[in-house]
Amino acid sequence: MELLATGKMVLQTLNEAGYEAYFVGGMVRDQLINLPIYDIDITTSAKPEVVMSLFEKTIATGLAHGTVTVIINKIPIEVTTFRVETGYADYRHPNEVIFTASLEDDLKRRDFTINAIARDINDCLYDPMQGLNDLNNQLLKCVGVPTERFTEDPLRMLRGIRFVSKLGFSLDHETLEGIKKVSPLIAHISKERIKKELEGLIQGSSRQEAMHYLYDTQLLEALPDLAPLCEYRSYNFELLTHPILLFVLASLNLEELSRYLSAWPFSKEEKKCIQVLRSCVHSPVPMPYFTYRYGETWAQLYHQLICFLNQEMRPYEVIELPLQTRKQLAIDVATITKIINRPKGPWIQQLLEEIEYQIVMKQLVNNRAVLIEFIKQYR
Ligand code: ATP
Ligand code: MG
Repeated sequence: MELLATGKMVLQTLNEAGYEAYFVGGMVRDQLINLPIYDIDITTSAKPEVVMSLFEKTIATGLAHGTVTVIINKIPIEVTTFRVETGYADYRHPNEVIFTASLEDDLKRRDFTINAIARDINDCLYDPMQGLNDLNNQLLKCVGVPTERFTEDPLRMLRGIRFVSKLGFSLDHETLEGIKKVSPLIAHISKERIKKELEGLIQGSSRQEAMHYLYDTQLLEALPDLAPLCEYRSYNFELLTHPILLFVLASLNLEELSRYLSAWPFSKEEKKCIQVLRSCVHSPVPMPYFTYRYGETWAQLYHQLICFLNQEMRPYEVIELPLQTRKQLAIDVATITKIINRPKGPWIQQLLEEIEYQIVMKQLVNNRAVLIEFIKQYR
C-alpha cells in the first residue's frame, strides 16, 4: 500500500527529528473498520516551520491552522501541528490558533470520537475519547458537549450526518438532541461547504437514514434554499444517488431559479443540467429524444429523477438511437429551403427538430426520399 508506506515515511522523519507524530482522523477510523483509505492526515508536535524544514517538498496549505502539506512521490499528506480549539466568532474560522504540546488536547478539539483516534508508527492506538468503543457500537458521538461543539462550528452537524450516511452508523442520543437544539446555526455556513457535505451525504450507502436525520433534526429546513426538499420526507432516497439531483429537486418549484443558480457554487455544467432536468420534469420528454438531445450521462440522471419522483425502481436501459447527430440527417438545409420556398427563419430550426424527433422516436426513417415526402407535407 503505497499511500500508507508514504505516510509512515513522514511519521518516521518526524520521529527521528525528535517529534511526536501520529496518523489521525478518517484514515485511522476507516482502517479500523476495514474501509479503503483515500488520504492521510498526520498530527504532530512539530510546529509548521519545522515540518517545512524537514521535508523537501511542502506546501503551506493552511498555515494559519498549522497545516502543511508534505508531498512525497507526488502523494500529498496533510501534517497538522497539535492544536486546541479556540472558538469561532464568525462560525467559520477559529479566532486564533493555539498550538499545544499534548496529543490528548489535540484529539479533544476534533469533532467526533471516532475521528479522534491516533495511531503511531508501530500501530499503537491512542484513544482518550473512547472512539474505539463507539466505532464498535456504530455510534457517531461528539467529542465533548454537542451543543457547544456545534455552536463552535455548525458544519459539524452536517459532517456528522454525512458520516452516518457513509458508515451506516447511528447518531448518539445526546448528539442527535444537540443538533435539534442548534440546527438553525447551519445558516451561517457557506454554501460551498454545505454543498460538499450534501454531495457526500447523498452518495453514502445509508443515505436513507441520513435523509431522515436531516428531516428529524430540522436541519434541512434550516439549510438555505433547500427547505422544498421537506416535501419528499416519505420518499425512498435509495433511488437517488447523484448529488446534483438533490439540487434539481429543491429547484422544482422555485420561482427565482436564476437567483438560486447563482447563489450556489454550481459549475456551468451543473447549472445547465439543473435547468434542463427541471424543465423536463415540468414538460416530460421521451427518453430516446432526451438521450439524443442531451446525451447518455444526463439521460441516466433524468431516468433516476423520474424514478424517484414516481417512487418506482426501474433499471436504466441504454437506448440504441437511429440518429446520433444532426450531421447524420439524410437531408440538408439547402434541400429543405428548395422544397419549402420561404425566406430563411426560425421555421428551419423547428422543422429540423421535428424531423430529428420523429426519426429518434422511430416514426420516420432517416432516408432522403422519405424525408423529402415528409417536408413536402410540412408547409
Ligand atoms: P473523510 O476524509 O472521509 O471525509 P475525515 O474524518 O478524514 O473524513 P477530514 O475533513 O479529512 O475528515 O478531516 C480530518 C480530521 O480532522 C477529522 O477526522 C477530524 O478529526 C478533524 N476535523 C475535520 N473537520 C473538523 C471540524 N469541522 N471540527 C473538528 N474536527 C474536524
Ligand atoms: Mg480525511
